[in-house]
Amino acid sequence: MAEKLSAVKGMNDILPASVPRKEKLPDSALWQWFETSVRTVMRRYGYQYLLTPIVEPTALFVRGLGEVTDIVEKEMYSFTDSMNGDKLTLRPEATAGIVRAMNEHNALYNGPLRLWTIGPMFRHERPQKGRYRQFHQLDVEALGFAGPDVDAEMILMARALWRELGLVEGRDVRLEINSLGQPAERHQHRDALVRYFEQHADVLDEDARRRLHSNPLRILDSKNPAMHALIEGAPRLIDFLGEGSRAHFQAVQGALDAVGLAYRVNPRLVRGMDYYNLTVFEWVTDQLGSQGTVCGGGRYDGLIEQLGGKPAPAVGFGLGIERLLLLLQELAVPVPDTACDAFAVVPPGVPLAPVMATLEALRAAGVRVVQAAGGADGPGSMKSQFKRADASGARFALIFGPDEVAQGKVAVKPLRDPAGAQVAQAIDNPASWAASLLA
Ligand code: ATP
Ligand code: MG
Repeated sequence: MAEKLSAVKGMNDILPASVPRKEKLPDSALWQWFETSVRTVMRRYGYQYLLTPIVEPTALFVRGLGEVTDIVEKEMYSFTDSMNGDKLTLRPEATAGIVRAMNEHNALYNGPLRLWTIGPMFRHERPQKGRYRQFHQLDVEALGFAGPDVDAEMILMARALWRELGLVEGRDVRLEINSLGQPAERHQHRDALVRYFEQHADVLDEDARRRLHSNPLRILDSKNPAMHALIEGAPRLIDFLGEGSRAHFQAVQGALDAVGLAYRVNPRLVRGMDYYNLTVFEWVTDQLGSQGTVCGGGRYDGLIEQLGGKPAPAVGFGLGIERLLLLLQELAVPVPDTACDAFAVVPPGVPLAPVMATLEALRAAGVRVVQAAGGADGPGSMKSQFKRADASGARFALIFGPDEVAQGKVAVKPLRDPAGAQVAQAIDNPASWAASLLA
């Protein structure tokens, strides 16, 4: 036998529940339910769907995310196009690509835009539960909006999604917010930070020492536990905010208060990209160990201009789909019924044409029907077909027995309701009984 090939480390197949796998990862039914819920919520808030390429010029991320960030320094899958020498990168996040696309198409010319996308992102990290090299994000962006109301809208949209999925905010996921102020305020804070860390140079780890002068704010984002006490005592950006930044932050909090959404102001929340200003937020959970951030975002008023567009404010968030689905799995949140309505049992020798015509008519009427089909020698024994009918989760078996078919009938047998009685229905008029199969 030929040797089997494996997926790239840290990159997972997303499979139906019927395919057993070693690692307990969310199955494709959970994914689909998530995507359906996302579509529902995005429509409710008037956000439009878009798709951008998975491969972008490397320069987009270096310029967009900042040279001294975890992502750009050590997590990007970058390569040279062997055909023409172009420097390319598998996108590590979605915002830079969306801003590139909107700039390229002068999309903000006719006014602000509310957008969302879903897709794979790539980061060369150490794979572990909730952290992969290919992972997926829901990404939501509002471009051209300056006001704090849109910051609040973003946060509330995430809450609406939690509710749609059966998660309870405050219990399953908690909201943390902060303000990063404006660049000038950050510079003052940065000077204070550098002075502080210089005084404690002996405690700094290698990453921090390197970043001390290039990007000291990033030190606050350190994942090294040995650095945490030092970081706790560092000067807080929030104490350097000017009046405008303070007012913006107050307005966001006011909007959240007004709808009764609880949050914690976390002055240490900085986020991993350089492009953020003013509001930043994260939705976190205690259920996933150190991979506890399921959703993070904030305002990035400078990025559109930085990437060559006409200056325009913006705000957005990215949601880690694997982490969210792991959380749903952890909490055993019930997934709406994904089984079919009916399973068609077709004994050997029964003519297929009228059977398939009936099933097609049922499907056209919205019934989810699976046929025992595909065997080289026909659909197999009645016993094996009934086994498959049971395993399918269907509520009804449609039994096309030779005697019934000869009389123009099909037997409809309830599989889940012990009190339900089998009835005979007309093969040539499925529309008249299709509704009786629907849940
Ligand atoms: P972390 O601090 O956990 O590394 P991050 O700040 O790098 O997260 P963002 O760039 O803000 O993450 O991406 C938004 C979301 O995408 C995260 O909150 C998380 O849920 C998810 N995410 C980020 N990196 C990964 C990964 N390697 N595998 C799975 N999900 C990820
Ligand atoms: Mg990260």
